[in-house]
Order: sequence, then structure tokens, then C-alpha cells
Amino acid sequence: MTQRTGRIATFYGPGKPFALKEYPVPEPEPGAVIVKMSMANVCGSDLHQWRGEFDVAKFGRPYPQVLGHEMTGTVVELGAGVSRDSAGRELAPGDRVVFRYFYPCGRCRACLKRISRACPFARAYLTHSCDEPPHFVGAFGDYHYVQPGAALFKVPDELSDPMIAGANCALAQVVGGLQLAGLRLGETVVIQGAGGLGVYATAVAKEMGAGRVIVIDGIPARLELAAAFGADELVDLRELRDADARVARVLELTEGWGADVVCELAGHPRVCPEGLRMLGRTGRYLEIGNINPGLTYELDPSWLIFGNRLILGMVYYEAEHLAQALELVARTRTKYPWERVVSHTFPLEQINEAFRAADEGRVTRAALVP
Ligand SMILES: [Zn+2]
Ligand SMILES: [Zn+2]
Repeated sequence: MTQRTGRIATFYGPGKPFALKEYPVPEPEPGAVIVKMSMANVCGSDLHQWRGEFDVAKFGRPYPQVLGHEMTGTVVELGAGVSRDSAGRELAPGDRVVFRYFYPCGRCRACLKRISRACPFARAYLTHSCDEPPHFVGAFGDYHYVQPGAALFKVPDELSDPMIAGANCALAQVVGGLQLAGLRLGETVVIQGAGGLGVYATAVAKEMGAGRVIVIDGIPARLELAAAFGADELVDLRELRDADARVARVLELTEGWGADVVCELAGHPRVCPEGLRMLGRTGRYLEIGNINPGLTYELDPSWLIFGNRLILGMVYYEAEHLAQALELVARTRTKYPWERVVSHTFPLEQINEAFRAADEGRVTRAALVP
């Protein structure tokens, strides 16, 4: 049998174009799964790397890298010992799957506290160059090598690729995030930024029982999509141009109290002071978007103390959040336009154009289709 090969859109660092390169697809070790990619989204984190705001070279990681982690695909080969998905369903080549893109160790202090998202020993995809086997450790290639021990779920046939391509990053992230924030029935949620994370968070907040969801963005297509995902109020940055006006608007909508949960999903620290000011007493500020070390903002800690307010940071999520994300899409597939989050698809060979489009905000989510 001739060995299978596949392309990877290799990344050599910020400011450099991706280049397609052919690699051998390895045989799966016991417990691993080889997946043929069918859709890979350009997530905000990928953009931060592409722009150089988050450069893995600063952490001593080598180039070239394969970027991308928000994806779905079809099983082509199962390693020894894999016969079921994480929900216990039988698994076979040809099955469509979503999976967690990081692998907590299971035995460190964080894992023992069942907060595996904080595992410092998690195997993730940016630690090695894609020149090293198993090569296909990111999303922007023809294949993906799912390592042993992954949380992996079969996707029901009625869910299309665009509906579920965002499940294993953005959607699971906000599913976990709003639970971390302790969202209660009837509470008011403010969402800063209506990209993929923001529109997903809108639907998740509604489904978790939020009384009112207020979404802030300045791009008409995104605001319109947020409305389709259940937003009760839209705050348009082009109309309310300064932070004071936007804070006043949120206070007005909440009878002077402020929001119970504010989600930072815009990914820039300039939005944080205003988001914090929107928090009512006992409010929780959920920080997910700002992944770039060194970018800061000013904070008056007494605002937290005197209002009993909390700031919560969250990276990654628990495996159950991915299961919940998939269940949510399946259950509400006709209620929300899940497939519209992927607004534009590009063939893998147009990855540079896909990143430019995402960078310029011309798309909600750009997706690459090998
Ligand atoms: Zn992501
Ligand atoms: Zn661990």
C-alpha cells in the first residue's frame, strides 16, 4: 500500500504567507484517530498569531507550525483500541466527528481538581514544528492526527459542517464560560464583540435562561447575526461612539443596576474598562478574548470590592462542555442559524486570502475547506 500524503498550510511566522507543503500521513498509534478534514475555521486566536500579537516563537516554539484548532472532519482510520466515541457510541471510518484539540495530562493538581482546562502539562498543537511527525496536529491541512485520549464525539448526520465546525473551540468555550460565570435564570448578560464567540454566547446565554442579552459590536452583519441568535438589545458602536454613552445605555436597559454578566469576547483590552463599568453589584466579568500577553488596561480595584464583583479568566474548557455544545446545536438546529456563523468558505490553497478577509472583519468566520 502506498503511503497516504496530505497538504498542510505551513506557517512561518507573522507577516509571512502560508505555504502549502506535502507530508506523509502517519499510521495511528494505539488510541489515536486519523481524521480527514472537512472544515477548519479561522478563529480569533489564529488571527492573533497571524498578526504577531501572539507569537509562539516568544515561547521558544519552532516554525513552521500548522495553525488552526476549530474544525470538523471524517474518521479515516482508528488506532488500536478505539471503537467508541466519548459518549460511548460506536465509531468507524466514515463517521463525522468533533474533538477537543488539547489533551490534559489527567494527573496534575489542576486535573485532580477536575479543572483540566488549567492543566499546565496539556499536550497542545503549537508545541512542535509541523515538520516533525505526526505533522497533522493543527486544522489547516488535509488531515488531522487526533492523539490518544482525546475527547471526541460523533456528529449526527442532520448537522452540517458549517453548523458544527465552531463547536470544539468557540462554542464549547462560551458554553463553559457562561457556566463558570454562574449565569442564573433571568439575569442580564452583556456581550462585547459579536464575532463567532459573541454570537454563540448570545444563544448559549438565552438557552441558559438569561433574561436579557445585550450585544455590542460595530459591524452591521454581525449585529444582525446576533439578533438572529436571540439578542434582545443591540448596541451599535457606530451610533454610540464613546464608552460613557454605551455604559449609560446598559444602565438604562437595566434600570440603573447594571449587567449581571459581561463577556469580553472582542479580544482587545481597550474594551475592558467599559465592560467592567457595565457590571452591576455581584456582577461577573468573563474574560475569554484577550489572549495576548503584555496588552493591559487600567483598573480601579475598589470597583470590584465595593460591588462584590468578580473577574473570571478562562482558557480551554472541559470535555463535557463540548458534549453540551453538540447537544445544543442538535436540539436548537432550527431555532438558531448555526450554519451562518461560517459566513465564507475558502479552499485551503486560498488560506492567505481567508486570513486577510478575517483580519479586515469582512467575514464573521472564514472557513477553509481542503
Ligand atoms: Zn479558537
Ligand atoms: Zn494536568
